Amino acid sequence: MAGETTIIKPDLQFVNDIIASGGDTLKKCYQCDTCSVVCNPTPDSKPFPRKEMLQAQWGLKSVLKSPDIWLCHQCSDCTVYCPRGAKPGEVMNALRKMCIETYAAPPLLAKMVGDSKFLLALLALPVLLLLAALKVTGHLAIPEGPIVYSKLFPTLLVDFIFVPAFFFAVAVLAKGVMAYWKDLNESSPFKTKVEGNLVGNLIATLQDILMHNRFRQCETTYPRSTNHLFVVAGFIFLLVVTTWGFLNEWVLHNEPPYFLLSPIKLMAMAGTAALIYGIYNIIKERQANAAQAGLGGYYDWLFVYVVFAVGVTGLGSWVFRLLGIKILAYPTYFLHLTSVFFLFFYAPYTKMAHMVYRTAAMLYARMSGRGF
Ligand code: SF4
Ligand code: SF4
Repeated sequence: MAGETTIIKPDLQFVNDIIASGGDTLKKCYQCDTCSVVCNPTPDSKPFPRKEMLQAQWGLKSVLKSPDIWLCHQCSDCTVYCPRGAKPGEVMNALRKMCIETYAAPPLLAKMVGDSKFLLALLALPVLLLLAALKVTGHLAIPEGPIVYSKLFPTLLVDFIFVPAFFFAVAVLAKGVMAYWKDLNESSPFKTKVEGNLVGNLIATLQDILMHNRFRQCETTYPRSTNHLFVVAGFIFLLVVTTWGFLNEWVLHNEPPYFLLSPIKLMAMAGTAALIYGIYNIIKERQANAAQAGLGGYYDWLFVYVVFAVGVTGLGSWVFRLLGIKILAYPTYFLHLTSVFFLFFYAPYTKMAHMVYRTAAMLYARMSGRGF
């Protein structure tokens, strides 16, 4: 409206936080807009990431409430073509990290997960918890006889530790994403009324995500979308296996271990193989493209290596058990439980949370007509 004044409140601390979160090249940007031109996933109207670079330089916190930071799939095409080396793809990544931290509770835990100084303290929680559980139940020794992991950690004990951890993560994620959804609807500059059937649009969004349709528009790091698809498939298989095992135990009262070629074992093997294959190739691809696309920061690599640890220790537990090497099998299984706990308990604060925030942003984009 003519004559209307917009008051901007820059926040210098916010700018410093972006720099500390991996957006250290932020100030090199001189707003040429090349990045928005070469970005395939961006909508034509109010494209990203140039405007996010500007908002970030000005310290406008409202950028964290934008759906656009999640419509970016970190393909790095913009980073490759930026004439100033401002790495807009890395800045968008830093903004997503800060978005997760903003909505996750308690904020202290979110800060700790994003800071390498606290890694040992975060690791200590599952290690001490599992050791304490073994001590209390009298299992703090390598069991006699054939290798059966439930002799070390009885299934009831595993459920007693992991089920509350899982529900804690789900509750924190749900609270965070609901607050984000509210902010999307109240403060987005693209606000057009969100319309349509929520369930129908959610199903369409999930289909889009599972097929990686937007991810596949990327060019520089195109193989990353295929590798990511393997990781997602691995997670889905292992989720089905875990649910299947839980029902087997508590509803059908079948005791593990299952025979080698049972469907549940075959599915677990396929899921583990997909997970390891996908995450290993992501590591290789990131390292190979580091010079042009950026290497990513501690936050990215923490998530990548935790997923890798879950896959490798899961495979190691299985192989060492088959080979009958007790001295390696039980410690590897302990490490497997530690990494699984780390992955799920801290999920609301790590990059794993991108699953729910990106889904919410893509759902919002679809329902508000933003680029779909
Ligand atoms: S980030 Fe780079 S390409 Fe994008 S507007 Fe700034 S200088 Fe130009
Ligand atoms: S990283 Fe890729 S998707 Fe994200 S803004 Fe840059 S070009 Fe677009």
